[in-house]
Amino acid sequence: MVVKPAPGRRSSEPLGPAACESDAKKLEFIEEMTANAEQVQKRVLAEILERNAETEYLRRHGMSGATDRKVFKERVPIVTYEDLKPEIQRIADGDRSAILSAVPISEFLTSSGTSAGERKLMPTIQEELDRRQLLYSLLMPVMNIYVPGLDKGKALYFLFVKTESTTPGGLPARPVLTSYYNSHHFRHRPFDPYNNYTSPTAAILCPDSHQSMYTQMLSGLLHRLEVLRVGAVFASGLLRAIRFLQLHYRSLAADISDGSLSFDQVSDPSIRSAVAAFLRPDPALADLLIRECGSGDWAGIVTRIWPNTKYLDVIVTGAMAQYIPTLEYYSGGLPMACTMYASSECYFGINLRPMCRPDEVSYTIMPNMGYFEFIPCDESTATDAAAPATAVDLTEVEEGKEYELVITTYAGLYRYRVGDILRVTGFHNAAPMFRFVRRKNVILSIESDKTDEAELQAAVERASKLVEPYGASVVEYTSQAYTKEIPGHYVIYWELMMRGEGEKEMLGAEILDNCSLEMEEALNSVYRQSRVMDRSIGPLEIRVVRPGTFEELMDYAISRGASINQYKVPRCVTFSPIIELLDSRIVSTHFSPRLPTWVPQRHSLT
Ligand code: AMP
Repeated sequence: MVVKPAPGRRSSEPLGPAACESDAKKLEFIEEMTANAEQVQKRVLAEILERNAETEYLRRHGMSGATDRKVFKERVPIVTYEDLKPEIQRIADGDRSAILSAVPISEFLTSSGTSAGERKLMPTIQEELDRRQLLYSLLMPVMNIYVPGLDKGKALYFLFVKTESTTPGGLPARPVLTSYYNSHHFRHRPFDPYNNYTSPTAAILCPDSHQSMYTQMLSGLLHRLEVLRVGAVFASGLLRAIRFLQLHYRSLAADISDGSLSFDQVSDPSIRSAVAAFLRPDPALADLLIRECGSGDWAGIVTRIWPNTKYLDVIVTGAMAQYIPTLEYYSGGLPMACTMYASSECYFGINLRPMCRPDEVSYTIMPNMGYFEFIPCDESTATDAAAPATAVDLTEVEEGKEYELVITTYAGLYRYRVGDILRVTGFHNAAPMFRFVRRKNVILSIESDKTDEAELQAAVERASKLVEPYGASVVEYTSQAYTKEIPGHYVIYWELMMRGEGEKEMLGAEILDNCSLEMEEALNSVYRQSRVMDRSIGPLEIRVVRPGTFEELMDYAISRGASINQYKVPRCVTFSPIIELLDSRIVSTHFSPRLPTWVPQRHSLT
C-alpha cells in the first residue's frame, strides 16, 4: 500500500529497509498509522464511545450515544484518578454493571503512581492485552533497521513478576508487566529468533525475586557468547542485576563449575527442570567469572562477560536518566536503547530511532492505542486546579511546546490526566514525536517509586515531631535521590534549630536515626514495597547540615541570577555545585535503622 501523508504535515523519511518480510509489514503498519494519525484518532474515539455508550459514566455526562469528538470534549470533563475513585472502588468491590466500560473489567493494573499513599488501580479489559502485544511487536522491526543480525543470537533480559492480590470483588490486581508475562501471549509465544531470551520463562514467572534473578543471571552467563543485547525494563533494574552479580558471582561460578543448580539458591521445581536442560559443568567459564568479577574492577563488566553485546535495552529517559553515568561505567559506553513509552493505563508509543543518544530520545505515540489529548503546559500549570483545562488533539500539538498527556482508553478511562509532561520534538508523518520531560509533581524517584513534594513535606513533618521534645525543630530541608550506589536511596538534608545549647546534647544520634525510619513510614506504599519486598531502595538517610547552610544556598542561587523576592528553597536538588555545598556542611548522617512497615495493599480505597 502507498501511504500518503496527511495534508498540512511534512512527510518523513520512510522507515527501513526492513530486515525481513514480516518486519516490512510492521513498518508499513507504523507508516500507515502515523500518516493517518488524525483519521485513526477519530476512529478510535468513535469506537470507544460507541461501544461504551450505555455505560453509567458516559450517560451521566450526557453523551446520549454521541460519538462525535466535539460533543465528547464539551460534555465529558478532564479528570484525575481522585475523581474516578468512587467508580473504581465500586468495580473493585465487585459491581459488575457497566460503570466505565461496557466490556467487563478483567483485572486491575496496579500503577506505580499513588493516591493517598496507596497504588492506583487501573481497570483494564482482556482485549487490551492484544493492543499491548501489538505495540511490542513493532519494537524489533524498528530495531532491526539499525542493528542487523539480532536474530543470530540471544537477548539477556532481566524480567520479573511481582506478587498479585485480589480486590474484595475478586478481580486480580497486579502490575501491568506481571499481567503480560502471565498472559497466554507471553507464556505461549511462538519461537522468534529476534526475541530469543536467555531467561527461561519459568524463571521470569517466579515471584521469588532471588530465585528468579539467580536463574536469569546464571542462564545469561551460560549463554554468554550468544548474548547480543542486555536489558531490563528500566535502568534501575539492570543495575540491580549487576549488583546481584557482584554479590553472588562466587556461588554462580560454583554452580557453573559443578554443572548443578544449588538448592539453597533455587528450589522452585519448574525453574530447576528448565535449567537442567542446559546446565552442564563448565569449569573454564567458572574460572573466567571468578577472574573478571574477583578482580575488583567493575568498569566495563558487561562487555567483559558478554563480549558480543551490541547495546543495552533499557529505559533511561525521565527519572531513569540519573543512572546513565553508572550504566556507561558498567557497560564501557554501550549504546542504550529506549524503545517504548507505556503505562498501566495505556501503552502509548515507540521510539522510531532507538539507537539515538539518551538525551535525544523521542517517542511517537501510536494513534491506534487510545485517544490522546494534550493540555498545553502553560495552562495546566498556571491555572488553578478547579479551572477547566483545555486540551488539543494529537495532530494539533506544536513543535517545541510542552503538554500534559490526557487519555481516553478502550478500557473506560475518559479524558484522564496521566500526569506526564511531554515536549513535541518533531513529527513522523502526521504523528508527533515527544520527549518525556518529567512526571508532574514527582521530585524523588529511585526506581518505580514516585514521591511528590507534598508527601516529602508530610514525611518531614511527621519525623520532626520526634525531635521536638529535645527542643529541636527542622527549619529547612531539601532532598536528593542518591544513586551512586546500588540500590540508591533518598537523602534528606535537615537544618535544625535548637532552643538551647544544653538540649543539643540530649538529641542523640539514635533519635535522628529513628527520624529517618519515621520518614520512611510516612512515605507511600510503592516506596515501602521497594524497601521491604524488592529491596530496590536502600535505607533513607538524613544528613544534618550546619545552621546557616540554607541561607548560603539562597546566596548561591541569587549569585546565579535568582530573584531574592521569588526565591524558594528547592525541595529536591540535582545540580552538583549545590549538592557539593550541602555535603560540605554536613554535621552528622543518620540512616534508617530498620525496614519500614509494608503490608500488601488490601485495595480498599476508602
Ligand atoms: P506505571 O503506571 O507504574 O506503569 O508507570 C507509568 C509511568 O512510567 C508513565 O506514566 C511515565 O511517567 C513513566 N514511563 C513509562 N515509560 C517511560 C519512558 N520510556 N520514559 C520515561 N518515563 C516513562
